[in-house]
Amino acid sequence: MNDTPKLRLATVWLGGCSGCHMSLLDLDEWLIDLASYVDLVYSPIADTKIFPEGVDLALVEGAIACDEHMEIIHRVRANSTILVSLGDCAVTGNVTALRNPLGEAGLTLQQIYVDHGDPRGIIPAEPGIVPVLLDKVVPVHAVVHVDRFLPGCPPPAPRIRAMLEALLAGREPDAEGSDMLRFG
Ligand code: SF4
Repeated sequence: MNDTPKLRLATVWLGGCSGCHMSLLDLDEWLIDLASYVDLVYSPIADTKIFPEGVDLALVEGAIACDEHMEIIHRVRANSTILVSLGDCAVTGNVTALRNPLGEAGLTLQQIYVDHGDPRGIIPAEPGIVPVLLDKVVPVHAVVHVDRFLPGCPPPAPRIRAMLEALLAGREPDAEGSDMLRFG
């Protein structure tokens, strides 16, 4: 039994495919060990709507692609002690940023929904419901300060575990070698 106070852990899903969260779930039975060290206070796998105050560690999957992501990441940064960019989309933009060469948001939507998409040619828009695309997808550190970077598409579960074990022990994560740093 672990008697030390639990860390408040959050995981955040921005412009990504959820593969990084799937890799987190690939920690399998170690998640049970992890649960004795952390309280999961916000996550797409938990039913919490608003990012809370006083988070010790936030793992952020995905790039910043729309106004909603921008709002969330500022709230995450303001309320988290350690913010980790989890996966290549968060670290570089990666797959989410593949739309950038299409041009600004209006041009991108025009090409996808009208020129090459829905024959009815309707661009989805519903203020307050459909998030507004940014003109350019950017990685998390382009918007807020990031404390740690964990590359990989997705980062393999052992790499996530190694980083979590180090942070829980108050150590610097071992950020050397292809096992920890390889992209893709
Ligand atoms: S880094 Fe890879 S697995 Fe993670 S959200 Fe991006 S595309 Fe998906």
